[in-house]
Amino acid sequence: MLRIVVLGAAAGGGVPQWNCGCPVCIKARSGNPALVSTQASIAFSRDGTNWFLVNASPDLRQQLNATRQLHPAGGRLRHSPVAGIILTNGEVDAVAGLLSMREGSPFSIYAHERVLAILRSNSIFNVLGEQNVARRPIEIDRPFEPVLPDGLRSGIEVLPFEVPGKGAWYLEGKAHPAGGEGVGDTLGLRIADKTSGQYFYFIAACARVTDELKGRIRGAPLVFFDGTVWRDDELIAAGLGRKTGQSMGHISMSGDHGAIESFAELDIARKVFLHINNSNPAWLKDSDERNALERAGWEIPADGTEIML
Ligand SMILES: [Zn+2]
Repeated sequence: MLRIVVLGAAAGGGVPQWNCGCPVCIKARSGNPALVSTQASIAFSRDGTNWFLVNASPDLRQQLNATRQLHPAGGRLRHSPVAGIILTNGEVDAVAGLLSMREGSPFSIYAHERVLAILRSNSIFNVLGEQNVARRPIEIDRPFEPVLPDGLRSGIEVLPFEVPGKGAWYLEGKAHPAGGEGVGDTLGLRIADKTSGQYFYFIAACARVTDELKGRIRGAPLVFFDGTVWRDDELIAAGLGRKTGQSMGHISMSGDHGAIESFAELDIARKVFLHINNSNPAWLKDSDERNALERAGWEIPADGTEIML
């Protein structure tokens, strides 16, 4: 069995974002706790005891404290159920939370060499000493089995694969510490219980749904997918910024070739949006956008939502 907890569903900045006065952020600050969301991450476990995280959001400390499954075991002076963290990209909202795990508990970081190069080139991440925190390279299209802190096998198979996306924005126009082109900058993951065969997909950053991606995820029991923007130009239209979703490497929920349309015929049992920007009107229950999304079989999860497969 696979157990999954959504630690947060929001894109960078969260909901509400500290400096934002958009309608969603205002409402989230005005007595609507259900609208408050931390930045995107999930935890998953096969045995219910050892947990792996996908990405380490800047809200990780808050997420760990809010999630009872991730609390230290009773009777232990120092302990964490977190056995490892798998990084799917090097953006701030995927790696900054690592700095909240510097208190000496052992775990492993799994990331593509391009993301590991970013960690190596930023000396602040040296607070995670190699004696406690192993950095393990993962490769595209090569399945791996994350290990438990005692070195035992987890019984979980993770397959990283390339999805259309963008490199970290803070490296735009700069030399990447790993050099070369951007293959490996944005990963999707297929996560499976090796015993039961149950599996799900995590694809929280994706610029477009290619035919190859459709073929991969068709018929899946569960997909977490990039829900950054409702429409490509929403940040510009709302006066919040100058970037389109596409320029940030994110598909829109709506429109031709948007996520909702692209997934319509893929026969996926449960479709969950993650990495939803606070500019996205679908946050608001009973909005036209939220209604359209739910009619198409999608959901926006609250922090702490638990899913079992
Ligand atoms: Zn906002």
